[in-house]
Amino acid sequence: MTDTDDLARELDRAHVFHSWSAQSQTSSLVIASGRGCRVWDHAGNEYLDFSSQLVNVNIGHQHPAVVSAIREQAELLTTIAPSTVNLARGEAAKRIIDHAPEGFRRVFFTNGGADANENAIRLARLATGRDKILSTYRSYHGNTGAAIVSTGDWRRVPNEFARGHVHFFGPYLYRSEFWATTPEQESERALHHLRRVIEAEGPTSIAAVLLETVPGTAGILVPPPGYLAGVRELCDRHGILLILDEVMAGFGRTGRWFAFDGYDVRPDLITFAKGVNSGYVPAGGVVIDEPIAERFDDRVFPGGLTYSGHPLAMASIVATLDAMSSEGVVEHARAIGETAIGPALADLAERYAVIGEVRGEGVFWAVELVADRDTREPLPAAAMGRIKAALVARGLLPFIQDNRIHVVPPCVVTEEEVAEAMAIYDEVLAAETTGGG
Ligand code: PLP
Repeated sequence: MTDTDDLARELDRAHVFHSWSAQSQTSSLVIASGRGCRVWDHAGNEYLDFSSQLVNVNIGHQHPAVVSAIREQAELLTTIAPSTVNLARGEAAKRIIDHAPEGFRRVFFTNGGADANENAIRLARLATGRDKILSTYRSYHGNTGAAIVSTGDWRRVPNEFARGHVHFFGPYLYRSEFWATTPEQESERALHHLRRVIEAEGPTSIAAVLLETVPGTAGILVPPPGYLAGVRELCDRHGILLILDEVMAGFGRTGRWFAFDGYDVRPDLITFAKGVNSGYVPAGGVVIDEPIAERFDDRVFPGGLTYSGHPLAMASIVATLDAMSSEGVVEHARAIGETAIGPALADLAERYAVIGEVRGEGVFWAVELVADRDTREPLPAAAMGRIKAALVARGLLPFIQDNRIHVVPPCVVTEEEVAEAMAIYDEVLAAETTGGG
């Protein structure tokens, strides 16, 4: 610990009002610098970042090409109104389109993921002339007006002022709402449930179904076979648009450019943020399928943000996506998930009864901890708090959500770093199961 770490803490405690935490219980962890999968405080204490912060630093911290691109752009032009033409903006849009399905041509830029969903919802409502948005209880779509009301968990409740939002249950076999025992059953029954919700709400009142392709914060719920294709079919049957939220799952996290590339589904609108530039500069957006974009050729889209398509964000997107392509980052994420993270977590699950289920792919894994394997009762919050503190004390930054450890390192994580992290998880689970702390 240095005086600088103390100063950082003192200023934070005195003046910063934090999100997602009671102000008396905010973290005292100071992070001053980073590189790849590691970060440091001012005193040089090192942490292995297996959270990717909020699951956004896909390319790792301080990638030199991205940092240089931001620096070069800063020297040229640091801000410009969204209505002007700017080369970096066009290039960033083109890079994103290169990874979208055939036929997608246009990108609306935002400052992050919530406003991406906000604007996708607005696009869907304007394009269909309908009102309702269907989304799942197990979801997080961002903390602004329509995005937080689309969110399914407790976070929507104090904000529930908007109309036209309806929730339903998506598939989650480990805690099935549908008494399913196989992925196929879960898929079929979840689709039946959605079909009934659509019928009960009135199909012609529904503008869009909004889904995270792989719900992230809610538990990394990899959809069962046929589910997303089935949702698409239901949408098509009733003229409902499908918005896939790829804010967390997109740009390499699942070992694919877009998570939906692994499924037989084509969305109408794709929302993105986080991994598109690893959060080096705030950025997000909506990729719009052409039949929807065309509706605004002679009609104003009443959405706009002063910083939409901000030059620093655009330069960082171009450099990030170029580096990810040339360095094979997405392929690496897929391989490391298959050969290192998945097998190591399966091994932990064999040895620790406290692990109820391991699921995931790429660098997107959830380890669900239970007090009892038979009843699947979630491990209590106090135990999760102890586990989190023990991981940090051993130099690992974890992503803990409810009763789960989300194993979500940057896509560039090496085999050695995975082995190092697994040894720490192992030690901490051993201490927790024997009561050693
Ligand atoms: N959508 C998903 C799936 C997310 O995981 C998040 C953030 O975690 C958001 C939207 C909101 O993004 P932002 O925090 O950039 O507004």
